[in-house]
Formats: sequence, C-alpha cells, structure tokens
Amino acid sequence: MPAVRPAPVLPEASLVAGVSTPVEDPYYPGTSNPEVDALHYGLDLDWDGRTLRGVTQLTFRAARDTTTIRLALARNLAVTSATLDGRAVSARRPGNDVVFATGALAQGSRHVLVIRYVGRPGPVKAPSGRPDMTEGLGWNRSPAGNVYTFQEPYGAFTWYPVHDHPSDKARYDATVRVPRGQVGVFNGSLTKTESLRGKTVTRWHLDRPAASYLTTIAIGAYKHSAVRMPDGKPFTIWLLPAHEKLRPAIAKEALRSYSWLLKKAGPYPFASSGVVVVEGASAMETQTMITAGYGIMQTELNPVLLHELAHQWYGNSVGPIDWLAVWLNEGWATRMQQDYEDPQGAMFDAQALDTMCRWSRVIAGPAGRYDPKRFADDNVYICPAGMLTELRDKVGVAAYDAIAQAWPVEHRDRTVNRATFLAWLNEKTGQDQSDLLRRWLD
Ligand SMILES: [Zn+2]
Repeated sequence: MPAVRPAPVLPEASLVAGVSTPVEDPYYPGTSNPEVDALHYGLDLDWDGRTLRGVTQLTFRAARDTTTIRLALARNLAVTSATLDGRAVSARRPGNDVVFATGALAQGSRHVLVIRYVGRPGPVKAPSGRPDMTEGLGWNRSPAGNVYTFQEPYGAFTWYPVHDHPSDKARYDATVRVPRGQVGVFNGSLTKTESLRGKTVTRWHLDRPAASYLTTIAIGAYKHSAVRMPDGKPFTIWLLPAHEKLRPAIAKEALRSYSWLLKKAGPYPFASSGVVVVEGASAMETQTMITAGYGIMQTELNPVLLHELAHQWYGNSVGPIDWLAVWLNEGWATRMQQDYEDPQGAMFDAQALDTMCRWSRVIAGPAGRYDPKRFADDNVYICPAGMLTELRDKVGVAAYDAIAQAWPVEHRDRTVNRATFLAWLNEKTGQDQSDLLRRWLD
C-alpha cells in the first residue's frame, strides 16, 4: 500500500473552485449522485504492472441532507478501508458503486473521505456504436503492458472512486507510482519526479476544476519535451519510444493549432497544455493533457489536435451539465475544426452540413435527443456545427467571432445546458434563437 501521509491542507480558494450543483443525468442516470459535490480529489495511485493500489482523499460538500454517500467504483476494485473525517466508515458494494454509511450529514457541510482500494482494473463497455470505442471505457492495458484511458461519457470509476458525472467538477492533485523505467502521466502540471522504493513517482497538479470524464492517466516508458506557446504557456509532448518519430510533427502542429485558437477562441483557459500519445484507437480532449492514439496522430494530426485543443475552451472550461448537452462540446469544436481546415468555407457551408445532419439523424437520432446507445455519433458533431454556421451567416463573421470568444470567458469553469446557451445567445444577438436551435437539434 502507498505510505500513509498526513492530509495536505488545501487552500480555501481551491475548494471553493470545486463547488458545483450536481444533477441527476437524464441519459445515464446510474452515473450521477446529486447528494455529493466533490470539491477536490487527492489521488495516490500505485501500479505494479498488474495490480492497482489506490488511496483517494475526497474532500466534498454534502449537496443535500443525507446519511450515505454513493460513489462509483468498478466492482473489480475492492475497498480495503475508508474513513470519514478521520473515523472508520462501512461501505456496501452494489454493482459498480460504493455506498458509505456516513451518518447524518447536513446540506452544505464539508467532509473528507479517505478510501483505500486494490484490484486489477479493466475497461467497461461504451454506450456507443463508434469503432474507436470498441476497446471499452476507462482503464486499458495494451498488449505491451502500457496503460491508457478514454472515458467519455464515464469510466474514471474503473481506476478511482468518483462522482463520475460532468455536473460535478472538482480540483485534482495526483501522485502516480509506477515501476522504475516507466512514468505515470496525469492531467495538469508535473510538479515533481522522484525515485522512491524502486518506483518512479510523479506528482501532478491541475489548476482549474475538471469533470471526471476529462481526467486521464497513461503509464509507459514515456519521454517528454515542452514547446513554449505564443502566450508563454508550455505545451508538453509525452511519447513512448516507439512513437518518438512523431515528436517534430506534433511540436509544429501544436504551435500552429494553438496560435490559431488564441486568435479565434481567445485566451487559453488553463495554465498548461499538452498531449500524451497512447496505443489506443481514439483521441480525447482530457483537460490540459490531450490523450491521443498513435494511429490517429499519424494519419490525422491535423485536424485532430486542433479539435481536441478547441475543446479546452469549449467542453472543458465551460462544460455540459449532463450528457444531453454533449452537442455543445462537439458543435463548437467541430465548427472550429472546419474553419481551420477550410478557411474559405467552401466545403462546410450550411447547406452541406444540413445534408450531412439529416443523414446522421437517421442513424443516431436528433443531436438534442440522441439515441443513448449511440453516444458521440456524427449527429452531435455535424448538426450543432451546422447551427453555428447558420448563426455566423446570419449575424456576420465579426459578430460570430465575438460570440465564440465570449461564450467560454463568460462561463469559465461552469456547467451549462441548452437552456443556458439559448438564453445567453438570445441576449447576445438581441433575437430569439429558439427556432435556430430547434431546427438543427430536434
Ligand atoms: Zn470532440
């Protein structure tokens, strides 16, 4: 087990930044738990190549009066002990949940839950028809023994106990202990690397609150380098030895994409950015540290890096309150990607997107109420991108660009839904846009 260390004293501002209003998810209801508002996760993850031993120190706020706290944790991870505010608490394990008998907790009260667990993690099935999601969600171990994760819409629960829902953003600090010769990569900034008892130990700090689906971990013989972006912030590239030849191309494309987004989307919302290249099939906008499959980086570096970087503004800094609103993430990122790829607007005009949107609806339903078994299908990308294109044609490029920049700035670190977006857009444009949304989303 990882050594027991006294709980770090968290700065008040760090905890306040993690305050959210958790909601029940209308699409994947088992994943949300509105009685808990996670403020900060202190993760300690010890990996020996097969077994994960973890300690999670969760600082949370009771979002309502309650006598139990339910978190998600994969059933193949056994809870070995748990304390609430220093006192032992018992835990039940229904399915992939863990329910702690906390005794009466008053709404608004703040507590620290420390959970120790151990097991052999693995992925869970994705509610999706996408070919790049067949390997499953959450913790994946490649044939070579390297570890990576993809976990949208859920899957963080395959490696730590978590309120695994986007309505509950929280701050994160993580310590990752892996066999010597390997490195554990997490979100945020690497604050320390050391050798301890035959292991490489890395410590990570995330500067703004994040939703759990935007956390990432990758373990392997990683080497890193950093590129300075035009705003002075670092973009760090983490590569396995077999993928090393990608480094110059990624460095060049990162600078190009990031510079373009600074002009188009406005100031970058976090302290750092980067990419960890893994052996998986997909790519994901994990907060400040994009997780990208080697195959995709080889064949579609441009525009995939731009797309995942764009999500740092649209989806990460301002995020969806539930999975009904995933189109808000993908609409903006797709429209940005289309502007980047096709600055003259010849390929992706409103008419072309309308045709593509109609086809995507046949397969996966309307973007605003998609088939829940077809998570992240083409509909939630193309249809809202078409809506934004029509908006741009209506208000003009200058007004559209101002709207695109104001949206993440005015909703920084917050969670939003269709109603929030519509009310805000009506105010910004001075017109009722409900018909625009209805036509593209319903
Ligand atoms: Zn995306």
